[in-house]
Amino acid sequence: MNMNNQMEAAEASILHTYNRFPVVFDHGEGCYLYDTEGKQYLDFAAGIAVNALGYHYPGYDEALKAQIDKLLHISNLYYNEPMSEAGAKLILASGMSKAFFTNSGTEAIEGALKAAKKYAYTRDGHADHEIIAMNHSFHGRSMGALSVTGNAHYREPFEPLLGGIKYADFNDLESVKAQITEKTCAIITEVVQGEGGIYPADPAFLEGLRRICDEKDIMLIFDEVQCGMGRTGSYFAWQAYGVKPDIMACAKALGSGVPVGAFVLGEKAASASLVPGDHGTTYGGNPFVCAAVSKVFEIFEKDMILAHVQELTPYLEEKLDALVEKYDCISARRGKGFMQGLVITGRPVGEVVNKALANGLLVISAGSDVLRLVPPLVITRAHVDEMIKKLEMSL
Ligand SMILES: *Cc1c(COP(=O)(O)O)cnc(C)c1O
Repeated sequence: MNMNNQMEAAEASILHTYNRFPVVFDHGEGCYLYDTEGKQYLDFAAGIAVNALGYHYPGYDEALKAQIDKLLHISNLYYNEPMSEAGAKLILASGMSKAFFTNSGTEAIEGALKAAKKYAYTRDGHADHEIIAMNHSFHGRSMGALSVTGNAHYREPFEPLLGGIKYADFNDLESVKAQITEKTCAIITEVVQGEGGIYPADPAFLEGLRRICDEKDIMLIFDEVQCGMGRTGSYFAWQAYGVKPDIMACAKALGSGVPVGAFVLGEKAASASLVPGDHGTTYGGNPFVCAAVSKVFEIFEKDMILAHVQELTPYLEEKLDALVEKYDCISARRGKGFMQGLVITGRPVGEVVNKALANGLLVISAGSDVLRLVPPLVITRAHVDEMIKKLEMSL
């Protein structure tokens, strides 16, 4: 089948919840994807910040294949080695206390919200607590995660959602304080807002949230689903701020391509929240995905992926800043590490994204006017140069 027939076949059976780009991908290699007609694309989208190691990173496929030959799934009723290995590595990388593996980011958020609610319930002896979320945040599509997503357009058709959710402005501590009541049990925020348009948190904002949460025994939840796993140059974006959450959600790059997420609890939350019977998942953290998580951490350590992101970031930023100088249609750059956004003015960002695709470069949008760059963490200077060249052709 040619590409057009493939696209028609997909639309015939797959529910139309995405306006997909007119391309059918066949395989990947390194930081490139290839469509079914053999055209090569430099991938600065990475499956939406998932493929941290690109495609076929040395050792990764082999580890997954070896686990397939041993065991795919057994349920969470039993112990298995990949689960404890992956858990230990996640705890070590985060300096937190206990992890629960999920199948996705939105499920990691569900678990994080439940842990916060259960903590307050255990402390107070009753339910009915409130959660403060940020405007322009994105936390996922399931009902709980949607309830704390600060975009009314996503929420409206599905109301009533979770009760007791209040919204404040990201990077505006006073607006958060204004929403706090006796019932507040959690504050949830991304450390770098992703879908909302690549907005990094101000250090004073995160420090202020930490202070408020400490004073009032409120759970601070950081959503690291997109900005975590090395994307900003540390395992988790909060580590560079020195502000530790009580609960963290991660997913996307955690398994570098297999569907896995996790919510991770600090000591306080771990010791007094979810207990047997409170939460579960059939697939979550099965031996297959945990073998991937384990391998990803092993590769990050062995090949010093975090140091690589830190080293290459100034070059990437310098090249992007030069575009901001050179082109009137780019008004600003925002971001941290390999999570960068260019604000496009005077034309729809989608136009640039489509032209880039035609020119063999994959980028995505964020918010209404931001061109988002979330490449594999293993790109080189040469990839940055090629991206800039292809982006210039598209402007
Ligand atoms: C993608 C994303 C989610 C949702 O993850 P899914 O795996 O799509 O459910 C949650 N939070 C943030 C910040 C994200 O970027």
